[in-house]
This record gives sequence, structure tokens and C-alpha cells, in this order.
Amino acid sequence: MKIRATTIGTYTVTLTSPFVTSLRSVYEYPVSTFAIVDHDGINGIGEAVATPAIVGDSAIEIDRELHSLSMLLIGKELSVDEISSLSRTGGYHPSTIAAIDLALLDYQAKSHNQNIQQYLGISQNFISTDVTIPICEINDLEKIVTERSHFKTFKIKLKDDSLERNLSQLIRIKELQPDASLRIDPNQAWDVPYSIRFLEKLDDKGILIDYLEQPIDRYDFAGLAEIKKNSKTSIMADESCFSMNDISTLLEYRACDYVNIKLMKSGGYSNALAMSRYAIENGLQVSIGSMMEGNQGIYVAGLLAAAISPFYTHDLDAAWWFTDSKFSYVNGELRYA
Ligand SMILES: [Mg+2]
Repeated sequence: MKIRATTIGTYTVTLTSPFVTSLRSVYEYPVSTFAIVDHDGINGIGEAVATPAIVGDSAIEIDRELHSLSMLLIGKELSVDEISSLSRTGGYHPSTIAAIDLALLDYQAKSHNQNIQQYLGISQNFISTDVTIPICEINDLEKIVTERSHFKTFKIKLKDDSLERNLSQLIRIKELQPDASLRIDPNQAWDVPYSIRFLEKLDDKGILIDYLEQPIDRYDFAGLAEIKKNSKTSIMADESCFSMNDISTLLEYRACDYVNIKLMKSGGYSNALAMSRYAIENGLQVSIGSMMEGNQGIYVAGLLAAAISPFYTHDLDAAWWFTDSKFSYVNGELRYA
């Protein structure tokens, strides 16, 4: 499509309660919007959110980059190839690229008189997801778990704390909902020895988890490999996995069993799809996740999850936290259509 004009905007998402991890606490945030329109008046709208603690961007930088890309793109042909070249060589934040990629996807669907789901040829209207249990006091867990009792899988955020306290958190959740599947995500807050000891303790107590996600610093690929080598528990890379190159490095180090792929890290749908396929071809399990995003981010991530791994339990609970969500969550499933 040839871009005649662009419009850059923003809206605010408010959560029902704070989303607290070892990296950040979020309650309300802006979603940037990027609209493109062609000479026939057909438009496409894409969205992006900033996650400074993870992506290193900011809402102001996304806005600035969208303005400078607008100058570059108006009057030109926009294609998936053009976007992937911008994402490789332009030095832009992947979130900014995601907004442009999603605008093109939305445009392509509209120019076929379809919605994005129809355009991508996905018939499944739901996807299984975990729900996050944020960092909290142990006394708050009963209320938090009860609110989430219709989910079957919990992703538990833990912080840099004593082994005993982190384990008690887990044991309490197990008591409250014994048949829930558990995943643990310290968001880089631990080190290698702590992670290995933690997994040994879980073993001793007979607590099974689906995976331990990104326990250590995102650049410590060797450390992640050491944790994997020393435990039977599966390891997931999240903050270590932004790009195709990162997947190659993770494979080279044999650092993980799973990767968590998100539109805002990979630069939109087309890059995330290519990364997911590459990871799967090389024997990794892919989980599709999201940041705390807007409705479009959750919708497209849900579609990507259904395209890649329709029966897996992904990490797409963000819209469950919205005060005003377009989607419903029923029995641990995101219903995006
Ligand atoms: Mg994570």
C-alpha cells in the first residue's frame, strides 16, 4: 500500500489492580496508536505500548519515532519486507515497529473487507492462557487466588527474596488451588546458584512446575544454560528473547526449552511469526505472551498463539486486568472473537 497520510494518537488503559513484578508496578498506562491511510481512504490502525523496564523504550520515544517514521513513509509503499528491514537496520524500538506492522496488518485485512482474524485464516475463537499472580504479601494470596480460580494455570511472579519466603508463597498457592498448573517468573531477579537451589527445593518438596521463566539477567545466556543443565525443570527465556539472533544464541548455548514471544519485543506480528516458526523448527516450545498492552495487542497475540500452537496454554491474560476490556476470559481461555 502507498501511504497518503498518518495519524498518531494515544489512549489510556487502566487496570483493576496493580500488576507488580520484580521489574515494575503498573496500574495505568498510555497506548500509542498509529493510523495509516491510502489514496482510496482505506486505513489501518496499529498500537504499541512502552515497557521501559523491559524494552528500554518510553511512550515519548515511541511517539517521537512514529513521527520521524511518518515523514519517511508518507508517499511510499509500505510492505512487510520494508518493515522488517526498518526493524533490522533502523535503530527503532521494536514497540514502534510493532505499531507500524500492526497498522499494515489491519490495513491488509480491511482492504480485503475482512477483520484480522479472517485475513489470517484463523478459525479458532479462543486460546488457553495462564493468569499472573503478582508479587504480593503471602496474606493477600487467598483473595488473589480466589479472584483467579476460573483459570487453570498460574504464572507466579517472584522477587529477590529468601528461598524460604519464595517457596512459602508457592506452597500457599498450591494449598489454595491444588490442581492449578504453575509457572514461575522472577523477571531476572535471581542469580544462577539461587535458581538452581530453588529448583532443587521444589524437587525435594515434590512440587512440579511447567517452567521457570527468565530467572536471571537477560544477557547471561551461559548462566541460563547452567541452570538448565542442573535441573529437570524446563527453562523459558523471555527478556533474553527479542529477536531471531537471540533465538540463535539461546540455541547455541542450549539455554532454554521454551521461548516467550511478544509482539512488542519482536516488532509486530510478522517478525513474531517468523521467530516462532524458527524456534519451533529448532525444537523449542513457543509460548505467546504480551506486555500490559491495549486491546489490539491482545487480539493479535491471541491470533498468533492460535496460528502457532492452538492447544497450548499461552501467556495472554493482560486484558483480564483491564477495567474496560473488549474480551472475555472463560475457564482459563481468552475469547478474542
Ligand atoms: Mg516474563
